[in-house]
Amino acid sequence: MPTLRVFNTLTRQAEEFVPLSKGRASIYTCGPTVYRDAHIGNLRSYLMADWLRRFLEAQGYSVRHVKNITDVGHMRAEMLDRGEDKVLAAARAAGRTPAEIAEHYTEAFFRDEAKLNILPATVFPRATESIEGMIELTSALVERGFAYQAGGNVYFEVSSFSEYGKLSRRDLSDEFETDRAEPDPLKRNPRDFALWKAAEKGRELSWKSPWGKGFPGWHIECSAMVQQHLGDCIDFHTGGVDNIFPHHEDEIAQSEAALGQRHVQTWVHGQHLLVDGLKMSKSTGNVYLLSDLEARGFDPLAFRYLCATVHGRSPLNFTLASLRAAQRGLTRLRTALHEPEGRVTKKATAEGEELRNAFWERAADDLNVPAALAIAWKVARSALPGPLKRELLLDFDRLLGLDLGQTPRREPLPADVAELVRERHACRRSKGYVEADAIRERVLTMGYVVRDNKRAASMAVALPAWEREDPGITSSRDVPSHLEDKADLEWTVGIVARQGPKELQRCVKSVKRWLGKRSSEIVVIDNGFDEDGRAVVESLVNGDGRVGIIQADHFLGTGAGRNAALRQARGRYVVLLDTSVALTGDVFQPLEALLNDPKVGIAGRWGAMTDDLRTFTEAEDSGDVHAVEGYLMAFRREVVRKAGLMDEKFRFYRHLDLDFSFAVRSHGLRAVIDTTLPVVRHKHVEWEATPVEERDRLSKRNFYRFLRKWEDRPDLAGTPGG
Ligand code: AMP
Ligand code: ZN
Repeated sequence: MPTLRVFNTLTRQAEEFVPLSKGRASIYTCGPTVYRDAHIGNLRSYLMADWLRRFLEAQGYSVRHVKNITDVGHMRAEMLDRGEDKVLAAARAAGRTPAEIAEHYTEAFFRDEAKLNILPATVFPRATESIEGMIELTSALVERGFAYQAGGNVYFEVSSFSEYGKLSRRDLSDEFETDRAEPDPLKRNPRDFALWKAAEKGRELSWKSPWGKGFPGWHIECSAMVQQHLGDCIDFHTGGVDNIFPHHEDEIAQSEAALGQRHVQTWVHGQHLLVDGLKMSKSTGNVYLLSDLEARGFDPLAFRYLCATVHGRSPLNFTLASLRAAQRGLTRLRTALHEPEGRVTKKATAEGEELRNAFWERAADDLNVPAALAIAWKVARSALPGPLKRELLLDFDRLLGLDLGQTPRREPLPADVAELVRERHACRRSKGYVEADAIRERVLTMGYVVRDNKRAASMAVALPAWEREDPGITSSRDVPSHLEDKADLEWTVGIVARQGPKELQRCVKSVKRWLGKRSSEIVVIDNGFDEDGRAVVESLVNGDGRVGIIQADHFLGTGAGRNAALRQARGRYVVLLDTSVALTGDVFQPLEALLNDPKVGIAGRWGAMTDDLRTFTEAEDSGDVHAVEGYLMAFRREVVRKAGLMDEKFRFYRHLDLDFSFAVRSHGLRAVIDTTLPVVRHKHVEWEATPVEERDRLSKRNFYRFLRKWEDRPDLAGTPGG
């Protein structure tokens, strides 16, 4: 077997694996924080560790794998109070203790791992069961002069450890990211980090220590557990790239300062799972759970397969479309294993051995699972005899973990479907192809697909759920852009919504009424409505040829949703409406009059003014404004070609309108409002539906995003239109 070479984050090089102890390998993986469900991004990181583990075991190493369960430290009381996690808040309302919450999510995590064929770690130590070790380590650091006590807290003194920064390659003179909220006055230096914290009053999870009642910092947990369960130095430590700093940097400092020796031989970090180009995280609001994928009819292992198609050190942009392709790939690979025919000859065996070597060599080359998977496909597609194919693929599955031996499921056909298939077969025999095709379509609507095989017999197979329903677009780019085509309508009205079906109905109804006989279209983007909402959205068409619905297969973000509408737009003028708005008269004529002035880039009913790009106030009078508010914004479609589409990083709607208006104005065009437009504004659904904390956080994010983009254009504030 080839020797494993792995990219080591510490040295930024691929290095040959030399075990610390012959025939053995130790792996430590930073595990989940169990106050919420692990999302599939987290699971991608654990998959990477699993491939490492499986490779080593396939090579005959005896592997000891430790994965910690963080059931303390992150669970601050204030976090609970803020109600950051709805499930948690619900659990709390139901009178559950932190321990029960931790237990609940630990169990859920184990189930998810099992579904993904992630081999269970040898030990899953809980932080709450390892407090003693953390206190000991902290004491040792204080004794050795690397840590100091202040007000019941203990801090690691970063300047005392000269190698600090060697993993993340941060210069000590760099501005370190510290707690942005407020600097901790007890720290000697803002870079110092907590090893132990005094418990606030009423804190449930706290322990006695030499420094009083308190609880451990997060980083010390991993240092202590590595030592306790694997020893003073280990072969591999894994995690996601976001763990490099500060978590792993701090872990090195603690462990190496306390023990005076190297802590980890090889640091392995996996790249992130992205959605819509942004890291999947609860705080960005683009999370999928494994159960979400199952609810859509996917085999969890389709996700494992998907991850196997991209190297662990490359980002992977998750889409349901790519998951669908992965599911098909997995099913086809499994099918290849069930070809029974063929005699195994010497020549075939030799060919098979070559492929076997190729597979393991690719895997050994920095765990290049996608390259290894390609060899598995080579085997599946080859002319090798069935039994040999089977043996090879099962051998590969020790690494891949895709249950390749599983027989693809086939359920018996319902009687009515079977009858139709027979009927269709008869049609084909008598060359009634048109009729046969019609029957095929009918069968398809029943959820079955008809396949004709070589012997001209027909059979039907059930379409798996993940292929059955029309999944919708996965990004705005899935909508073919008409922006370069000639406008063949006068008006496009774009409405993007994901909640509030009633409000959407009200809005669309008013638009239909006041568009009158204009040549126009109403483009509704269903930005991830739930099932009930979907039915309402579909009913909007109601025989009206002007209404087109585009469904997104998840919430794309507001910017992307609006872009889907813009790409679809075929009107010379575009008006984007929020569902809180209803037209009470003809807005189109006055808007057209405004937009026929070539100096005007964007028009609307509500506008915002600013002096400093930070504070915006609502404009009171008709005329020039700094930005047109997103409740109603209208522009000539050609303006999009100049100003560009909306910035999709604005997932939450706030500041998106300001940003777009600024983009338009940066091209020397005016933004104007007409306060006499006949419209009313009702409650804003998205705002109302967003919890207060979440509003603040998301608004702040967009505020800074906007500021960073435009702070060097103060000319766009001040006297508008001047
Ligand atoms: P946490 O529960 O936040 O501590 O994260 C658990 C593990 O998941 C850590 O190793 C993270 O680095 C990793 N992780 C978090 N978000 C992602 C993501 N979007 N893609 C891949 N790994 C992630
Ligand atoms: Zn850790």
